[in-house]
Amino acid sequence: MSISIYNQTRSYSKEEEKAFSARVSEALAVLLSSSYIDKRLSSGDCDVSADIKLVGSAAIKKLNAEHRGLDKVTDVLSFPVLDMVDGKLSSDLMPYDYSIDSKGKKTLMIGDVVICPECAKKQSEEYGHSMEREMVFLAVHSFLHLLGFDHENGRDEEKMFSIQEEIMQKIGLPREASEVSSKREAKSSKAESLEAEHPVGEILPHCGYCALIGRPNVGKSTLLNAISGMKLAIVSHKPQTTRNNISAIYNRDDAQVIFVDTPGIHRPESKLSEFMVDSSFRAAKGADVVVLIVDGRFSKPANVEKKAVETAKKLKKPLLLVVNKADAVSKESLLPLIANYSAMADFEEIIPISALKEDGIEELMDVIISKLPSQPRYFPIEEVTDQSEREISAELIREQILHYTNEEIPHGTAVEIDSFEEELKEDAVDSYDRSLIKIHASIICEKDSHKSILLGKNGQMIKRIGTAARQNIEKMTDCKVFLDLYVKVRKDWKNKPVFLNEFGYTKKDD
Ligand code: GDP
Ligand code: MG
Repeated sequence: MSISIYNQTRSYSKEEEKAFSARVSEALAVLLSSSYIDKRLSSGDCDVSADIKLVGSAAIKKLNAEHRGLDKVTDVLSFPVLDMVDGKLSSDLMPYDYSIDSKGKKTLMIGDVVICPECAKKQSEEYGHSMEREMVFLAVHSFLHLLGFDHENGRDEEKMFSIQEEIMQKIGLPREASEVSSKREAKSSKAESLEAEHPVGEILPHCGYCALIGRPNVGKSTLLNAISGMKLAIVSHKPQTTRNNISAIYNRDDAQVIFVDTPGIHRPESKLSEFMVDSSFRAAKGADVVVLIVDGRFSKPANVEKKAVETAKKLKKPLLLVVNKADAVSKESLLPLIANYSAMADFEEIIPISALKEDGIEELMDVIISKLPSQPRYFPIEEVTDQSEREISAELIREQILHYTNEEIPHGTAVEIDSFEEELKEDAVDSYDRSLIKIHASIICEKDSHKSILLGKNGQMIKRIGTAARQNIEKMTDCKVFLDLYVKVRKDWKNKPVFLNEFGYTKKDD
């Protein structure tokens, strides 16, 4: 019996790994020799082996998406190799089930286990027991999966948990008195319901589009990011950084919410601004629920907010008011704001939140979801955004331009991705197994003077922008990126429809 551990995290030390390795080897040996497991696995004519990989939360999330179509971080994943049911082999072992080394030693591989120590740590705190117990518990749980045990229904689940506890006791890691056992069971059945198939077309109790509208800088992108847990829309302290509608998709087992972030509503000054206004209202028109976000620091609605409320009223959509940045003001000072807005419209709910501190987000989600109709799921559960990596890359480059240059480079720049080439790894199993992404992009600005600012002395500025953007694109794609940036001048492009089309800022009529 042998277990190989591949630690791909830095959060788990060598000592912890060694102790863990000893415990799980013992646990597997005890399990294999128990009466629950097929005798052919402990007959002694071969070695039984399993691999355990320790990974971070991003990696396990990716594995979940790839293998189970689930967009979430889980504590553990099991990949069985043998065909087993409830500890018994469903068919005879065949020669190809074994690997034989040069000395003729036979090994029977039962499968791979992936564990996220980061999650284990959180759970051990939640359940009130040691990290060691949690890690070993997860390994034993996975071994049982590899050996054909499941927790699909209540009775199987009980059986699995009781064998699991028995093994834990035998290796000297019994359930501690302080442990909150019901919590784990409640959690496992919740995970199970999420794990059920979630096909597109499945009728959900609540499903639909939610338009987020509000003037620039109120925190729409920050809120979207808090909701989706991923950097989708761009957050900047400079207004109007979100140019295209970015929709994030929020999944719960009973609901799917498709968010449309809008560039904000404000007075049209150029054709580009017109496009922004236009797209905000277009988003609201197509939505099932409209959420107006305002900045809690300003109690008087301005024209922009009045216009938004009027539009929403005309569209006869459920309208919610979200008062953001509640962390920056006192509770009392929100009262006049709430009174002023209540006088303007019949908001179904008024919800104070802090997108930045992630306060009140769950309550907000509950309210939004309650307003959505029951209808078929629109998007597969693993989709987080319908924007392509290519489009998000352009946005991430723009984010760094805004970060590194100041007022001299106004919002008159666009980023165009000229090419986006992916190189696959030699042993790639799917199109996401990439070794490198090569991106060539152009930054389009309005004036020669802007070009020199963007390039900077000896090209320092463009280098800084490129490095920071590349790092963010690498995070988003989880892959090494080569980024090449060019700066081009196209005078007055913001008012020329031909350029607007070219950069995707096209007005759509519906
Ligand atoms: P958008 O233009 O509406 O998408 O706004 P952003 O999400 O880009 O946010 C604009 C600025 O407000 C950023 O500097 C955010 O950090 C800040 N911000 C967003 N939400 C909050 C919040 O809840 N509290 C505070 N204090 N600042 C926030
Ligand atoms: Mg934004």
